[in-house]
Amino acid sequence: MVTYKEIFQSARRRFSENKIENAYYEAKELFCNVFGKEPVHFKADSYPDREKCDLYELYIKRRLSGEPLQYILGEWEFYSIPIKVGKGVLIPRQDTETLVDTAIEIYKDKCGITVVDLCSGSGCIGLALEKNLDIKEIVLVEKSPDAVKYLKENILLNNSKANIVQDDIFSEDTINQLPMADLIVSNPPYLSSDDMANLQTEVGFEPDVALFGGENGLDFYYKIAKHYKALLNTGGRLIFEVGINQDRDVSDILIAEGYKNVNVKKDLCGVTRVVYGEKNYV
Ligand code: GLN
Repeated sequence: MVTYKEIFQSARRRFSENKIENAYYEAKELFCNVFGKEPVHFKADSYPDREKCDLYELYIKRRLSGEPLQYILGEWEFYSIPIKVGKGVLIPRQDTETLVDTAIEIYKDKCGITVVDLCSGSGCIGLALEKNLDIKEIVLVEKSPDAVKYLKENILLNNSKANIVQDDIFSEDTINQLPMADLIVSNPPYLSSDDMANLQTEVGFEPDVALFGGENGLDFYYKIAKHYKALLNTGGRLIFEVGINQDRDVSDILIAEGYKNVNVKKDLCGVTRVVYGEKNYV
């Protein structure tokens, strides 16, 4: 028989030996998920039951195979709200909070805005905006059935009034299903062919459809900036998340499409992560 503490220490050691960066944190998160509380909160001489040990072991093996922690836990926090995740949907990243920050800074004093989130995935961006802004209507556009399954769960989990349009942003008809908007946000797939050939093991578990943005990673930016501009009210903003070193190209796309006040924002790591512009005819 092994104690709770021994089980935890062994998981932590196996994670370290397998070069999992945050071995302690990850072993602890999985432990809490299975056993309901942290290792230190169990008495030194108490023993877990067999079934739970087997489950913990299963989770450890999944993690050691490279599967991301977030998929195993099934839920992850983004901008202080819970987001259900699993195979088939992109995991919310801290980088993406920069996009949410940008939108909140601009719209915090506005009442009753309409928001469209293109390529919404789990819905993390739209749902975080809904919690923090006065939104009259919000539509989340996502084409992948696997992602939409999570999107629906997340709408329920966060008591959201968001509507889903399940369609491809490249299909001509999608725009006709959307309302005129004050704000369009998007964290589209933006990895290039080269990026896709060199994915980190964990990212390889995430759906290609959420990652691959065409040969140079910019396909979605061209399409959205050009085609969805018609949806923006005058004075409305388009706010993108961009990949590393894409800020110049995406700024140029917005400028070429006639957006005004094109601007950027850095994430907490100092990477220029957000590019945005305004539809303004004056
Ligand atoms: N941020 C993701 C990554 O670093 C990519 C997500 C996307 O393409 N929007 O892998």
